[in-house]
Amino acid sequence: MRRTTVERKAPKTSYSRWLITLTVILSIAGPLVGAADRVGDEPSFDVILFGGRVLDGSGNPWFRADVGIRGDRIVAIGRLDDLPAKRVIDVRGKIIVPGFIDLHSHADGPGGRRRGLRSEDVHRRAAPNLVSQGITTVVVNQDGRSPWPIAEQRAELERKGTGPNVILLVGHGTVRRRVMGDDFRRPATPDEIEKMRRLVRQGMEEGAYGLSAGLEYVPGRWSTTEELVALVDVIAPFGGVFISHQRSEGADPMWYWPSQHQMRPPTLLDAVRETIEIGQRTGVPVVASHIKAKGAHYWGSSRAAIRLIAEARAQGIEIWADQYPYTTTGSDGNTVLIPRWAFGQAMTRPAAQPSSPPPDYAALLDEVLANPWQAEKLKRDIAHEIARRGGPEHIVVFEYPDHQFIGKTLAELAAARHVSAVEMALILQREGFRHRPGGARLRGFSLWEGDVEAYAAQPWTATATDGGVALPEDGPVHARFYGTFPRKIRRYALEKRVISIEHAIRSATSLPAQILRLWERGLVRQGFYADLVVLDVARVRDRATFFQPHRYAEGIDYVFINGRPVVDRGRLTWALPGKVLTPHRR
Ligand SMILES: [Zn+2]
Repeated sequence: MRRTTVERKAPKTSYSRWLITLTVILSIAGPLVGAADRVGDEPSFDVILFGGRVLDGSGNPWFRADVGIRGDRIVAIGRLDDLPAKRVIDVRGKIIVPGFIDLHSHADGPGGRRRGLRSEDVHRRAAPNLVSQGITTVVVNQDGRSPWPIAEQRAELERKGTGPNVILLVGHGTVRRRVMGDDFRRPATPDEIEKMRRLVRQGMEEGAYGLSAGLEYVPGRWSTTEELVALVDVIAPFGGVFISHQRSEGADPMWYWPSQHQMRPPTLLDAVRETIEIGQRTGVPVVASHIKAKGAHYWGSSRAAIRLIAEARAQGIEIWADQYPYTTTGSDGNTVLIPRWAFGQAMTRPAAQPSSPPPDYAALLDEVLANPWQAEKLKRDIAHEIARRGGPEHIVVFEYPDHQFIGKTLAELAAARHVSAVEMALILQREGFRHRPGGARLRGFSLWEGDVEAYAAQPWTATATDGGVALPEDGPVHARFYGTFPRKIRRYALEKRVISIEHAIRSATSLPAQILRLWERGLVRQGFYADLVVLDVARVRDRATFFQPHRYAEGIDYVFINGRPVVDRGRLTWALPGKVLTPHRR
């Protein structure tokens, strides 16, 4: 932009203004928007963001510049204040950053038609809770679950229109189930793997960016590393990425109960080693999703996981991770301390039987307790679950018939009754909601802040919500649905100074763009798509809490997606400028 600055010194006659305009258009916008036909009365820019500080997403500190948008692109960065524009927005005192790319999103997850980006409700497709925190692109079909076929999902998203841009993945669990039917509780045969490979290839040809897996879930749980390597091999020639909800996120997987499983359960470290192995054997970039170290007995294990990942990277294996900046998980929000086996078939009863009375979980529990041998197993499992959910001091009551209990921890309630935490868990079921497993709505805070901070500080950890579209009528959702990206900036950069603001912005923008090979987004660069956020550093913060999750973040004043505002002066516009991005059309 030096040339423009020099030109500016000339007296501001209409000739010199014309010359500046011509220079800018020819030298900057020209190659992108077509040159000479734009010279005339038509403004050079649709929007100029004037007077801001650009924090460009690369990790570099801010610099002062105006940003000019034309159509869906950033066409100029520099001093643009004298140039004609349809709209000039004064962003003095604010920072301009690239739009946030959510590497692990459930915005079109299961129920996508009802609650997600393919909803008939335009208010859901606008994804207000996501764009209001600065998200401009979501990567969906996570945890091994995708609609099928991908081409149909893509066509439906394009036909209906969405707020954010959407990137699709092929779900490993989806293709596994299509090939194996209900007989998936075993390793796949070579013939079945071959059939899965064909489906993965089809999904990639239909526009997916890579493969997702959910190895702690049904049916991914029963896949072998060999099966995964064979499938990830298929995405290599497409330049795809493998994004994995790994087999274990702590000392053991969520399905593990000490009394029910004799094997040594896989740990987070086993899971990270497997992800590394898949990356090594296929040469494909691999991502450890929403990385954590779950369970009070496992806190501090981020150190070992970080060492594994750093060593793998040093050996040339391209492994990445993403995280949400909270100490409580999605499944923590539905903490049930009593193991499922204690309720027999009651919890797996088909929902389509409204005529049958709801199970009396308190009565089922009493049956188990009547048998001393069973009771001993039960208590051991409850103690295990209490630790896995963060310990009695970190399990909080959110709903209970006696309102005095709400907001209290299991430890506080147990102390008041002079009983153990395990006994208190039994009391909640007996005296609480009889027809609700566990008797209460509990949330565990199963993660340790020190681990969250340690992962956040790694250069290879992207930020991701692991959340979906939410409207206030949806009831309890995780606060990350509304607050993930502002929280990373406010809490971890500005308040705790665990990371710099440059690092926080980079982890939300150019880092996920690079992981995805999204070469025209994720930075504030001339020629890039105009996915931009204007934020006020003094005000930016998350406001969603676990008691009041449906609260928009603050300090996100403007959000542009493909050049169009979805947040304007801090207000949602409900616009749908999002596109389905494909490797051929980034
Ligand atoms: Zn997941």
